Amino acid sequence: MGTPVNIIVGSHVWAEDSEVAWVDGEVKEIHGRDATIITTTGKTIVADISSMYPKDTEAPPAGVDDMTKLAYLHEPGVLHNLACRFALNEIYTYTGNILIAVNPFQRLPHLYEIHMMEQYKGTAFGELSPHLFAVADTCYRAMINEQGSQSILVSGESGAGKTETTKMLMRYLAFMGGRSGTEGRTVEQQVLESNPVLEAFGNAKTVKNNNSSRFGKFVEIQFDNNWKISGAAIRTYLLERSRVCQVSDPERNYHCFYMLCAAPAEDINRYKLGDPRTFHYLNQSSCYEVANVDDAREYLETRNAMDVVGISQEEQDAIFRVVSAILHLGNIDFIKGDEVDSSKLKDDKSFYHLQTAAELLMCDKKALEDSLCKRVIVTPDGNITKPLDPDSATLSRDALAKTVYSRLFDWIVDKINSSIGQDPNSSSLIGVLDIYGFESFKINSFEQLCINLTNEKLQQHFNQHVFKMEQEEYTKDEINWSYVEFVDNQDVLDLIEKKPGGIIALLDEACMFPKSTHETFAQKMYQTYKGHKRFKKPKLARTDFTVNHYAGDVTYEADHFLDKNKDYVVAEHQALLNASTCSFVANLFPPLPEETSKQSKFSSIGTRFKQQLQALMETLSTTEPHYIRCVKPNTVLKPGIFENVNVLNQLRCGGVLEAIRISCAGYPTKRTFDEFLDRFGLLAPDILDGSDEKSACIAICDRMGLKGYQIGKSKVFLRAGQMAELDARRTKIL
Ligand code: ADP
Ligand code: MG
Repeated sequence: MGTPVNIIVGSHVWAEDSEVAWVDGEVKEIHGRDATIITTTGKTIVADISSMYPKDTEAPPAGVDDMTKLAYLHEPGVLHNLACRFALNEIYTYTGNILIAVNPFQRLPHLYEIHMMEQYKGTAFGELSPHLFAVADTCYRAMINEQGSQSILVSGESGAGKTETTKMLMRYLAFMGGRSGTEGRTVEQQVLESNPVLEAFGNAKTVKNNNSSRFGKFVEIQFDNNWKISGAAIRTYLLERSRVCQVSDPERNYHCFYMLCAAPAEDINRYKLGDPRTFHYLNQSSCYEVANVDDAREYLETRNAMDVVGISQEEQDAIFRVVSAILHLGNIDFIKGDEVDSSKLKDDKSFYHLQTAAELLMCDKKALEDSLCKRVIVTPDGNITKPLDPDSATLSRDALAKTVYSRLFDWIVDKINSSIGQDPNSSSLIGVLDIYGFESFKINSFEQLCINLTNEKLQQHFNQHVFKMEQEEYTKDEINWSYVEFVDNQDVLDLIEKKPGGIIALLDEACMFPKSTHETFAQKMYQTYKGHKRFKKPKLARTDFTVNHYAGDVTYEADHFLDKNKDYVVAEHQALLNASTCSFVANLFPPLPEETSKQSKFSSIGTRFKQQLQALMETLSTTEPHYIRCVKPNTVLKPGIFENVNVLNQLRCGGVLEAIRISCAGYPTKRTFDEFLDRFGLLAPDILDGSDEKSACIAICDRMGLKGYQIGKSKVFLRAGQMAELDARRTKIL
């Protein structure tokens, strides 16, 4: 963070370490740029002075509840502070008005009880220990006092605690904005009960999180003139479809499948289910159970929650029929048929599952078989029916399963929205965003590009906000400041989403041109972005490309980009399900308007996602944002373990370090005159008597030769490193 260091023999410092990121110790010797340090753990190390940071020896051992209170705002200081607090089960810490929440991986019930909500109600921000209730309360009061809409943006990597945080925020808002004493299904109950319903259909066990949301979510809670909850709207983003037919150890498919297999006998018979181990879509992974989760109980609870959010019994029946039909579809296998390149059902078992799937979907058995094994090709001379080989038939089956599932999910979201209802006269809203954090895996594909685009957008929004807040503080204290510009990430956003010319635009072009392959698409990118600061072609790569994101480089594999970007429903599947005698199923596949069916059937997932994101950003821009950064302290999902390197990486990806960098570009250390004199008065004892506090502060700074600091109405504003400089002088005297 470019802190000019002021390190001498006897200084306490932080030095870089490859294993634990930073170690602290005391400087014993300095030769040129090399300093010898004895660490607090007793090791002797030699390190370059320029890579060290001064350590605040006066920092309280239990840490500070707001990072901006740290005398030295730098990476090791921030990390150490979080670690100290985490060790004491203090999982919440502020950085200004950003809340950092470290996942405790253990229930801390006392934190979320009703009496805690009572305590935070109406209490000024910062007065009590940091808490998500404080953020929610600030939002609620800001909405009332300034008559404006608010938003809370919760981010972090998978398993960091976003969804739990979001649910707790919603509980607090329901507590403040609920109508006490009303009977029956209140709006706030419906809002809260939408969570278990969405989780049943949109969450799954993954390597990173036993209850991982596989979609992004923005919940807009509307308030009336009396500041009571009067409506809500839920928007979801990019459900992971591939999971429906593809899972691997130790992950699971969506929760609802296992719940249904654990349903009471009556329902098992009704939906023709059995052991999850007998279904191909579930048994590709040998994981069927999740620790501490009882699928049978979850089934009943989901049913209850569905009642509360207004999904009728008949609708619930249809939903679970469709869920079961998907499992049966997955068990239909194909072998080579009698004609060349054709396929037929493998055996009686496949025939049974075909029949059952058709019954459950209430469609024609033969039509279902045909829609899987054949494809109609439209030619100028009329339609030709072409058989599909077994591999293509299997792909067709999986495509059908994925389409049905994602339509089902969208239906559930729409239904919840229409039954909770929107308040057209709502005066203000509070939006809560729970969305996937930045992702960088060994192999990254189209989904990661969309997710990382989201994070770039939110990062830009965040930077602008932090920048603005900093400026406001300077203005409030009436100081002069000529600001160092911060580096924006607009160039990455342009690279991905600019129209024309961005990656998504090139991808759409490739998808519309029948002869494109992932190779031609990659070549086109290499040509177009040659020399682009944020784009690289890795050496030897044929279709890979690297984007330099704000949180680091990510290399994407372009191989499946074209397929994954194409969202079209096979015409045969569309016709089949539209003809279902079950109106629920038929309505999931409404007839296409005449024109679109004639035109190219291609619709771009990337472009639609970009538009959804645009709409989200527009909504957010009308609100006052509040940020919660969730941090996952370790990858083993256990309490009490704090992995430094891991956490630092998340602070970087979540923009916390960026916020600190922005703040360091200005005046990162702010001290009231009083605080300043307490610490540094002894540097000039003669000045202290007689002069007022403000003049004494100026005199001390000048005498110490500080340049560029500012004196405000109530505080001294120091530039990065100046606090350390003063401390070094002080150490010499002491
Ligand atoms: P994310 O949505 O970021 O992927 P979740 O909110 O699902 O992560 O959290 C993952 C798991 O971590 C939860 O299932 C829960 O076990 C635990 N967890 C998260 N936040 C808390 C908390 N505040 N208190 C206790 N456990 C938590
Ligand atoms: Mg989640």
